Amino acid sequence: MENKHSIDNASEKLIEKAKQDSVETIWDRKVAMKTPCGFGERGVCCRICAMGPCRISPIAGKGAQRGLCGATADVIVARNFARMVAGGSAAHSDHARSIAHVLHMASKDGNYNVKDEAKVLELAKRWNIDYENKDIYDVAHEVSEFALNEFGKQFGTLTIPDCVPEKRKQIWENLGITPRAIDREVVTIMHSTHVGCMADAESILKMSMRTSLSDGYGGSYLGTELSDVLFGTPSRNNTEANLGVLEENQINVIIHGHEPSLSEMIVLAADDPEIKSLVDEVGADGINLVGMCCTANEVTMRHGVKMAGNFLQQELAVITGAVEAVIVDVQCILPALSELSKSYHTKFISTSPKARIKDSIYVEFDEEKAYECAKNILTQAVQNYTNRKKENVFIPKSKEHAVVGFGVESIISHLDKVVNSQIDNTGTLKPLADCVVSGVLRGAAGVVGCNNPKVQHDFGHVEMMKKLIANDIIVVATGCAAQAAAKAGLMSVDAAKLAGPGLKTVCELLDIPPVLHMGSCVDNSRILRLVGELAKHLDLDMSDLPVVGAAPEWMSEKAVSIGTYVVCSGIDTWLGVVPPVTGGPEVVDILTNRMEDMVGAKFYIETDPVKAAEQMIERVEIKRKNLGI
Ligand code: SF4
Ligand code: SF4
Repeated sequence: MENKHSIDNASEKLIEKAKQDSVETIWDRKVAMKTPCGFGERGVCCRICAMGPCRISPIAGKGAQRGLCGATADVIVARNFARMVAGGSAAHSDHARSIAHVLHMASKDGNYNVKDEAKVLELAKRWNIDYENKDIYDVAHEVSEFALNEFGKQFGTLTIPDCVPEKRKQIWENLGITPRAIDREVVTIMHSTHVGCMADAESILKMSMRTSLSDGYGGSYLGTELSDVLFGTPSRNNTEANLGVLEENQINVIIHGHEPSLSEMIVLAADDPEIKSLVDEVGADGINLVGMCCTANEVTMRHGVKMAGNFLQQELAVITGAVEAVIVDVQCILPALSELSKSYHTKFISTSPKARIKDSIYVEFDEEKAYECAKNILTQAVQNYTNRKKENVFIPKSKEHAVVGFGVESIISHLDKVVNSQIDNTGTLKPLADCVVSGVLRGAAGVVGCNNPKVQHDFGHVEMMKKLIANDIIVVATGCAAQAAAKAGLMSVDAAKLAGPGLKTVCELLDIPPVLHMGSCVDNSRILRLVGELAKHLDLDMSDLPVVGAAPEWMSEKAVSIGTYVVCSGIDTWLGVVPPVTGGPEVVDILTNRMEDMVGAKFYIETDPVKAAEQMIERVEIKRKNLGI
């Protein structure tokens, strides 16, 4: 295993094919990069003004100890960390803003409709919007305006979702980290980390905490809620995962990126009679629409669309030689796809003015003409089928069955199966709380985040999850971690056999897998909601619960923001890739130690996923002991 890039055979075979085809992959570029810069790795280089770049010697007392302006290593590290949080929060929040705009243009006969009316009314009620005797679209538009206002309101604080217990809100209030407006927090970070501004590591990190909360309980939360309104609240679905979902005789179209406003339209347009007759004309058996990265998560949660793979498989999909088009919008799209696609017949189609990519085919996605645009893009994909070079096609056989679609609502409906309605109400988290309190389930873990070529592809995700479920800890997964689980078969109901006796029984009774797919990266807000509602149900704070989080293979700034808001929610979080903070001793102390005094949780850094899982299990047991359960 040691020398392999991935634990996944399909990926290994395609890395081999890349060599035969003389094309490079991310692993080749990693080799070309040689040893990473030690200053950057420790977070002690600064280039935020033109007096620099400055870098601090990693040895205390030897070499440069301050930047030209006098900033210490801790200040530089904290500023860099804060800017990562701001970048991550901005990405999630801009995504949410787009969805809110789409909701604002939704109409009964238009391209976008309201799919979950109950959720619109629930949001209206929560936000004191008058909805009695009003047309659902009028209510939806007001809901969208309320949401949009959360981005830039100049007074007051963010509207914190109902799931957050009072005790948690009070902790944020006392620390001064209650977020104000979503965009404002990002702007404040960019301001305060400008040369000659904030020069105190602890204050910079508190600012990062506030900004991350504006993502988790603001941008991401709204993104998820409004996507459910527009495209439907997820429910249980069957699907398949891994590159073996590509088809020999069909037009393979990969939808990759993040925002469901594009992918949903592509899903609809794939059924258009004109597109179908074009498919017949080119002699294919059909269109095989498959997802990649978080777009995959969005469309699989709602429609069971198959998942071709996660972050590190995007190039490998093209290397199969069987992909007619990769359609992308924003975030986590390797610019390398431009060059790579030239070696195959694949059309690399970018669609967002927020993510123009040189040498891609650019078809701007205009939400006002969404369906027409989607059809236009698909037409290009279908026409490209005749250019496929059959002799250069290799589709690995690997694919696994997965059960997906576990939003909070769907989890509750599964829990209802074990409620005796003569004794208890349905529609609550009580059965889950009972299992946790009785010890049948020891606790729960959220395993989330990306892939990173610094670690063996999917190894961290899969080994950690296996260890956790074997110890009766139920796992919820999102993002590329979810796809790793699906590919490893951990999202099939059969995987219950890998679980400890308590979790196995729960899985069998509810007919669920031991690892639940909760969606995309913005859908981490579903995990926040689940934990918050469980805490409220038990009259506890979120930090009291035997709940832990992990990002074993994280790489993006979004993951930094996610990790920070999860810790600020009182959930201890394990990182499997060392963040660029080790050059700042005070910063390390705050993140891995003092944050516990502030928010009741902290970061743990452990690159061995099995050891990390053991620490997580230990932590869960300590929390149980503290609760006396
Ligand atoms: S802000 Fe200070 S440490 Fe950073 S580049 Fe400018 S002078 Fe150097
Ligand atoms: S988990 Fe990471 S790599 Fe995957 S889509 Fe989300 S941010 Fe991108």
